[in-house]
This record gives sequence, C-alpha cells and structure tokens, in this order.
Amino acid sequence: MSETFAMTIDGCAVESARTIDVRNPATGEIFAAAPDASAADLDAAVAAAARAFPAWRDTPIADRKAALAAAADAIEAHADELASLFVKEQGRPLPGAKMEILGAAMWMKATTMLDIPVDVTEDSDSRRIEVHHVPLGVVCGIVPWNFPVLLAAWKIGPALMAGNTLVLKPSPFTPLCTLRIGELIRDAFPPGVVNIISGGDALGPLMTAHPGFAKISFTGSTATGRRVMESAARDLKRITLELGGNDAAIILPDVDVDAVAEQLFEGAFHNTAQVCVATKRLYIHADIYDRLRDRLHQLAKELPVGDGAEQGSRYGPIQNEPQYRRVLALLDDARANGLTLLEGGAVPDRGYFVPLTLVDNPPEDSRVVVEEAFGPVLPLLKFTDIDDVVARANDSDYGLAGAVWSADVEAATAIAHRLDTGTVWINQNLQSTPFTPLAGAKQSGFGQENGVPGLLEFTRPKAIFIPKAA
Ligand code: NAD
Repeated sequence: MSETFAMTIDGCAVESARTIDVRNPATGEIFAAAPDASAADLDAAVAAAARAFPAWRDTPIADRKAALAAAADAIEAHADELASLFVKEQGRPLPGAKMEILGAAMWMKATTMLDIPVDVTEDSDSRRIEVHHVPLGVVCGIVPWNFPVLLAAWKIGPALMAGNTLVLKPSPFTPLCTLRIGELIRDAFPPGVVNIISGGDALGPLMTAHPGFAKISFTGSTATGRRVMESAARDLKRITLELGGNDAAIILPDVDVDAVAEQLFEGAFHNTAQVCVATKRLYIHADIYDRLRDRLHQLAKELPVGDGAEQGSRYGPIQNEPQYRRVLALLDDARANGLTLLEGGAVPDRGYFVPLTLVDNPPEDSRVVVEEAFGPVLPLLKFTDIDDVVARANDSDYGLAGAVWSADVEAATAIAHRLDTGTVWINQNLQSTPFTPLAGAKQSGFGQENGVPGLLEFTRPKAIFIPKAA
C-alpha cells in the first residue's frame, strides 16, 4: 500500500496542491495526509463524470453489474489492508473494522441482485404505457465518518448500477480508506464513471452548489442535511438525505433481563455509540428498571475501551476532536444539572476517549434525552404505562429507527406500529439489509437508501405511450 493517498478523477490518480491532515483518534496524532481538492479538481471530476455518462447509461445493465461485482471483489481481496487503515483513521477495533470492509463488498454485490423494474400502467387494445426508470446523470455522494466505507458502498452500488456516474466525497475525518478504495476499483469501470475526491470543510458546499450534479445523495447530520437541501433547491437537484436520529428502545417488563442486557448494551454503544440507528434513549419498565440498570452498569464497567489497534479493545475512541468536545459538553451539562451519571471503566488518557456512561432516569427535557449524543452517553428512562411511553418515544424531531423488546412478540409488534420511525426492530437492533429501505421519518431524512426503492432514488420515471395497431 502506498503511503500517499491520491484522488480518483477520470480513471487516474490525482494529487492536489494542498492537503488535509488525518489524525488517529486513539492518539490524537496526525499520521497521514489526504488531498484537499480545489474547485478546479471538483470541476475536473464533474466534467469527467459528465463525459462518461452517456456511454455508461447505454451500457447493458448486466455489464454494469459485472463491473460492480469486480469492484466488490477488489475491496474484498484487500480487506486486511483496508481494515488496518480503517482502525487508524476511524478508531474502531479491528474485528469491527474488518466487518465493515467485508460488509461494504457484500453490499455492493447484493445490490447487483436487484433489478430496475419497468412498470406497465396500461396494456389495452389501443396502447401500452410503460414507465421506465432512467438514470439521472452525474450524482454527488457525500459520506460521514462513522461508517465511512459501508455508507460509501451504499451510494457507489446503486448510483452506478442505475446507470449514473458519480463523484463521491468522504468526510475530512476519514478520507483514507475511501481514497484507497478509489485506487482499487478504478480499473473496474470506464474512466470517469466513479470519481473519489477528498477535501476540507469547504468542499461539501462547493459540491452541493455545483451545477453539474443532477442529484445529491447525502448521509450526515440533520443540521448539514438542511444546508444541503437549501443549496440543492437553487437548481432543483434531486436529493436523498439520510440524517440523524434519537432512537428509543422500549423494554417491556416480561423480558429476560440477563439474556437481553448485553444485546441492549451493544445496540447503544456499538462503534462507541456513533451509529445513526443506535439506541439513544432506553425506556425501561419500572418493574425491571433497577435490575436492568445495574446489569448495564456492570457491562459498562467490564467491557474494555481502548485503542482499536490493541487486541481486546471492544470499544474505541470518539472518532474526532469536535465530536469528542460535543460529548464532553453534554456530560458537563448533565453534571451541572445534577443528573446521576453511572460511569464505566477507565479509558486511556490520550486521544478522544470517553468512559461508557449511563444516565440514571434523567428528566425527559434534559439535553442528554432531547439531543442526539452520538457518543457513549445513554439515558435510561423509567415508564409504567404503554400510551405514555409511546408518546415519549414519539416526542422527537427525529424518526430514524426504534426497538421494542418483549417476550410477547404480538404485543411488541402492536407497539412497533405506533412508533413514528422509518424502521422498528422487535427483540433485535442495528439490523439492516441490502433489500430493505432505510428511510428516516420527520427530520431524520428525506428519501431512502437500499432495496429497490433506494435504487430508484438514483433514477427518474419516464413514461412511454406506445400505440397499438387498430
Ligand atoms: P456531518 O453532517 O457533519 O458531515 C457529513 C458529511 O457532510 C461530511 O462528508 C462533511 O464533510 C460534509 N459536509 C459538512 N458540511 C457540509 C455542507 N455545508 N454541505 C455539504 N456537505 C457538508 O455529519 P457527521 O458528523 O460526519 O456524521 C454524523 C451524523 O450523521 C449523525 O447525525 C448521524 O446520525 C448521521 N448519520 C446518519 C445515517 C443515516 O443513514 N441516517 C448514517 C450515518 C450517520
């Protein structure tokens, strides 16, 4: 693996005049540099993608699928190398890092099992009306730092399979694996079909304002999603926004506390709680509250937090310094308001580490309950009445996912139907599949990713009225 990281533009490695620093969140130290794309680099990438579009659009879908499968193979073949790099730039311990790399390759392959339908809305004696789903043109993909590789694959797969060309930008905090993947998959496609560029804070707004894009597929925070939507409005670009969440899990009194505790814990703290669909509010029935709280606290004390490169670390650091500061501020606010914090075990005293922390039954209007922490701070909230807990779970501007846990699956399913979210899990969490749309309700999103509905977001309908001989 080269130690310098180049962008992929028009099928070639492209370096830039300026670079951005990349830090290892386990140490806080700079360990690599990534290109800082200029406006001219962006123009070059968009122009290359526009040139490549007509031929790629007209390439038979079977050939587009074969190219994607070859790209997925290239990622899979380099999974170990990519996973080590992932640990350094993202912070997650190695097993989880490798799972994300292999998951991205699997997802790209699974996308090739989908098909773009042709809808027939009339087939009468006089005519046939077919609705085709045709590609949009040059797509802009913007990705966050919490699942940088998987979420890039969620855009590369369907955008290219639908016949678009793509310019994709990783987060400035985690550009390296994506740049390296650009290098690895470059030759699987004609030049210009997939372009990967990196840069600092200025690059995202330049992209969303660029007139060459037909669509923006964005994953990130709700605050940024709003800016993306405003910017896209100027020339009515199509948008898909996968945004933040403040997911509630409701735990009914009939669960087996010992059997579910670790799964509930992982549902909240996986990837150091930096998961869009993590449990961010845990509503526990009063009958089992104390027992489950104590069991979760024991897990917080036992499960090791450390450098992802060290064997045995189950949870890594917060991924970047601004996010680390936000989580510390949230904890300061909780302390200032006299909330009871149940802290986990010791964490390294370098890098961006925070102890895994539970908050014992805070008021419903406290910041740790209302805001998306996106860090290892989990409020535990007591309830006794189902209508009350459903109302509290739904009392949020977000509506990404949620979960209900009970020995009575029918009762849990009835509650699931009452939650205003795009996904609800029963007796499980953090699940998604390449065939199931992920679609945030309320301010958690606009549009959807995955499955045929996600694929169709990279197309537009085109109705063709075909007369029949009289
Ligand atoms: P973020 O919004 O700060 O950044 C996301 C991406 O947008 C980055 O690549 C960033 O460089 C870019 N960006 C920043 N400002 C921009 C602008 N004005 N215009 C265009 N692009 C801009 O989010 P983050 O901190 O990287 O990620 C964490 C957030 O992402 C959390 O809220 C999390 O819930 C959410 N998320 C959602 C999903 C989902 O599928 N719904 C998945 C993962 C993460």
